[in-house]
Amino acid sequence: MTPPSSKALVPFVSVENMMRLVLSRGIETVLRELVDYIEADFRRWPDFDKTPRVASHSDIGVIELMPTSDGAHYGFKYVNGHPSNTKSGLQTVTAFGLLADVSTGYPILLTEMTMLTALRTAAMSALAGRVLAPKNSKTMAMIGNGAQSEFQCLAFNAVCGIETVRLFDIDRGATQKCASNLSGHGLEVVICSSAEEAVEGAQIVTTCTADKQYATILTDNMIGSGVHINAIGGDCPGKTELHKDILLRSDIFVEYPPQTRIEGEIQQLAPEHPVTELWEVIIGQKTGRTGDRQITLFDSVGFAIEDFSALRYIHQAIQGTGFSQPLDMLADPDDPRDLFGMLSRADAT
Ligand code: NAD
Repeated sequence: MTPPSSKALVPFVSVENMMRLVLSRGIETVLRELVDYIEADFRRWPDFDKTPRVASHSDIGVIELMPTSDGAHYGFKYVNGHPSNTKSGLQTVTAFGLLADVSTGYPILLTEMTMLTALRTAAMSALAGRVLAPKNSKTMAMIGNGAQSEFQCLAFNAVCGIETVRLFDIDRGATQKCASNLSGHGLEVVICSSAEEAVEGAQIVTTCTADKQYATILTDNMIGSGVHINAIGGDCPGKTELHKDILLRSDIFVEYPPQTRIEGEIQQLAPEHPVTELWEVIIGQKTGRTGDRQITLFDSVGFAIEDFSALRYIHQAIQGTGFSQPLDMLADPDDPRDLFGMLSRADAT
């Protein structure tokens, strides 16, 4: 059988290679570099095709496709969210994604994105925190100590200068795991026995829990003035983390309003409730934090442009490395119109 030509081979980054890439560069470096890539793409927000992600819901989870294009490249991510998966030893969130060249439509990268989603979500949170959190924030409450949690803590350390994290999870084992994984990364880790205790003295509060219901991880009395809330886990219709009263006291910042109104904390509010798009704050068109007493809320749901930035980053990062494998996933007949001839000449063995 004729081997495929190199132009038809697509670099594939497996989970193993993603881990090798991250460990070889250093996770803090990767998080900072991802922040730079996401920020660069947020600065050219109007260049992108934008649509709320395409979601297929079931009673216990969701499967989503997240596409976007800047006219030169096209990217999409396939991602699921199944909070009950961990009971059977499976991840709540898994993902893979693809980057393509718009001029030919040919894919130029296929990659795992479970690890990459945790990294990009943490980088996005830290970018929002850098823009919105009180200056010189040193302490963060981390509520929900599952798969995303260490990435969040390390990103806030590397990008926003957080020195202490106060951990709480209803599952003590998850908190122990998070604390142990964070040791040796230069963070002071405090294990807390309630969400109330975790938020004590924290300038930043991150909620990253998984439960398909209108949960109230934070109630109004727990949030003092001046705090920045980084709400990660409410990212699906019928799945929220904050009591509505907190939203009514906060200035709310979002990625892409048409998606966040469906999926974010603000699904609890009237459709006309004012929110600010983060990209406008990043380019200086809108104000972010304006005072010491202001409560800022990043109502994160995860938007396609962040995954596009992450795909762009990985595509660049693998150049000249051995962190990808060539994948024979595109038929490449010598005569482009003779696809059938390629099949009939192929050797079945
Ligand atoms: P996970 O299942 O690994 O961890 C979730 C943790 O939350 C578990 O340890 C669980 O015990 C804990 N938890 C549940 N209810 C709680 C409560 N009431 N108080 C304290 N802890 C509680 O999930 P994960 O992969 O870490 O993801 C966390 C959430 O983040 C999910 O809801 C996921 O959909 C969401 N997510 C959002 C984005 C985004 O871009 N916004 C990206 C990735 C994941």
